[in-house]
Amino acid sequence: MRHVAIVGSGPAGYYTAETLQKDEDIAVDVIDRLPVPYGLIRTGVAPDHQSIKAVSRRYEGVALTDNVRFVGHVSVGTDVGIDELVELYDAVVLATGAPNDRPLDIPGAGLPGVIGSAAFVGWYNGHPDFAALDPQLGAAGVAVIGNGNVALDVARILAKTPAEFAGSDIVAHAREALAASAVRHIHILGRRGPHQIAMTPKELGELGHLERASPRVDPADLPPEGDDALLEPGMRKSVTHLRSFAANPVAKPVTIDFDFFAMPVAIEGDGKVQRVIVERTTLDGELRSRGTGETYAIEAGLVVSCIGYQTPPIPGVPYEHGRGRFASDEGRILPGLYAVGWARRGPSGTIGTNKPDGARIADMLLEDIGRGAGKAGRAGLDALLASRNIVPVTFRDWRRIEAAEVAAAIDGNPREKFTSVEAMLAAIGR
Ligand code: NAP
Repeated sequence: MRHVAIVGSGPAGYYTAETLQKDEDIAVDVIDRLPVPYGLIRTGVAPDHQSIKAVSRRYEGVALTDNVRFVGHVSVGTDVGIDELVELYDAVVLATGAPNDRPLDIPGAGLPGVIGSAAFVGWYNGHPDFAALDPQLGAAGVAVIGNGNVALDVARILAKTPAEFAGSDIVAHAREALAASAVRHIHILGRRGPHQIAMTPKELGELGHLERASPRVDPADLPPEGDDALLEPGMRKSVTHLRSFAANPVAKPVTIDFDFFAMPVAIEGDGKVQRVIVERTTLDGELRSRGTGETYAIEAGLVVSCIGYQTPPIPGVPYEHGRGRFASDEGRILPGLYAVGWARRGPSGTIGTNKPDGARIADMLLEDIGRGAGKAGRAGLDALLASRNIVPVTFRDWRRIEAAEVAAAIDGNPREKFTSVEAMLAAIGR
């Protein structure tokens, strides 16, 4: 029997396990620092996108197979070292995602009221690290920086009415804070133009169907319509939505303005954020943004920076600082150590992109480690954790936590999540 440890129980981790578990000679331990599995599916995917979250049922199927085990509430780096895992397992796969925000490197970015999307998304999704965030929703203006799908998620969540969260699993503290929110003007800032957005059509189209909020695009920002023919089909659909927002402005109490060619250059305020200074840009020949020197101000009591994510480095593991991911040769980091998903390729693609990625890394490591008797694996980890008085949360435990969350759901919502590790553990009597 060969033993594989996967660090991280999100999509990349479980898709890797899915391929590995087909080999009966492989035992897989999926280790997570939280007592609950599924990573970004639970704490990243928007709570009003339940159809995307439903993929967790597929991961559950993998987790329930005989040769896959969930080892929850075990923190790699604190409870057990990477070097110890490499010693114990025939292969260790880092599927740790990219949970840290890329820093917004402009003056004033440290003011209270400026937050990164990892924190804001974690807050409304009940990630224990961000449950106490308490974002400033008391001013009318919000600036959302970035032109990707995360910026769309953030703007949509800020714009929705309480009724529009029906059927979602947005957590109680966010539901209540958003219901009392004074936010009326949301600006989505893109440093480039409509043809350079990283927003997918379905997600963009949703902004056109909100109860009390309407998207606004300045027709002057749109390139000539004929140029859309040069775009790939998905992008063309996204730009068609922008054209429709520009052509059919609808008056609603909450506005979502697309500020294109708008580069935030400073954040100002007296002890907290009050405005964002934005420089107008143009595109150079290589479609990079160039400042024009002309600036304007956007009044905002909250700034959410949605400019991408980074994988936190682990001491001793080669890392590409510029790209914010582990340094690997197609996934091979060091002998016995691999990376998969965002930890390997950076924060790009959809949940489904991790499926072929996971399968490829699984096939690669299976070929590398060969067959036959392997290292101590599971038994070795159990002995090490026991010697440190660490009791992991099992998948069976998780299902009890899940049952308690489902039982606590209100108004037909799928679940009411626990938002602290203590509450999760209390649900299993610890
Ligand atoms: P993203 O798609 O990489 O978008 C990041 C945005 O930030 C880009 O518009 C980028 O502009 C901008 N940006 C970067 N640095 C900036 C700076 N210093 N100042 C101003 N703007 C800056 O990242 P994301 O939105 O975080 O999404 C991550 C991944 O998750 C993506 O693959 C996304 O599609 C996926 N996702 C999918 C869904 C969904 O399918 N429903 C939901 C959420 C996330 P430039 O292009 O000019 O660099």
